[in-house]
Amino acid sequence: MEKFLIIAIDGPSGVGKGTVARAVAAALGYRHVDTGAMYRAVAWRALKDGVALGDEPALGALAARLDIDASEGSVKVNGVEVGGEIRTPEMDAAASRVARVAGVRAALVALQRRVGAAGGVVMEGRDIGTVVFPAADVKIYLDASAEERARRRVHDAGRGEPRDPERVASEMAARDRSDRTRDVAPLAAAADAHLIDTTALSIQQVVDRVLAIARAAA
Ligand code: C5P
Repeated sequence: MEKFLIIAIDGPSGVGKGTVARAVAAALGYRHVDTGAMYRAVAWRALKDGVALGDEPALGALAARLDIDASEGSVKVNGVEVGGEIRTPEMDAAASRVARVAGVRAALVALQRRVGAAGGVVMEGRDIGTVVFPAADVKIYLDASAEERARRRVHDAGRGEPRDPERVASEMAARDRSDRTRDVAPLAAAADAHLIDTTALSIQQVVDRVLAIARAAA
């Protein structure tokens, strides 16, 4: 492709954004940026530093001073890899809480814009096509039924011990509700996003569709 595109991939938890975004980035030789990992990194550091998850000014200040790198499958906070520690059920809930804080979002959106501005990037999250890059070259919104998303999350090998499917489903529903109803940058498809319902599709089928859309935009 001749152009270095900005490809935004949004959607709810457990929809397979990470797997799809990584594969699309690899196929195009693009950089992959996981913005959910950035919110997780802020939550992780807040818990480590004893910053209360209700203390919004302190959380905003923390997000603004952390050096977070969440690209190419690795997550580093001030140069230290935090990979596995941010993908626990405790961090799922904590990340969703800090993501409601306007000051945290402002700091992370600024960072995401810096990282993606030059293009050649596949950035995944909840608000990439709506807020971070409203003029992205390609906007994808992935969705799937709540049952299928919970099933995928239960089978996600990168998340340690197998968990009770009903509990996974109810925790995921609570996070989704929080993401969809918050005041700042709620989870929503951009008006000009390509909607893909992945419920009955394989990963490869989703990746192929996204690549076809990207190639048509280049
Ligand atoms: O995608 P992941 O589950 O790792 O994201 C963790 C949390 O971070 C989400 O539940 C959501 O609240 C928040 N998030 C967000 N905006 C993004 C990416 C993630 O609010 N762009």
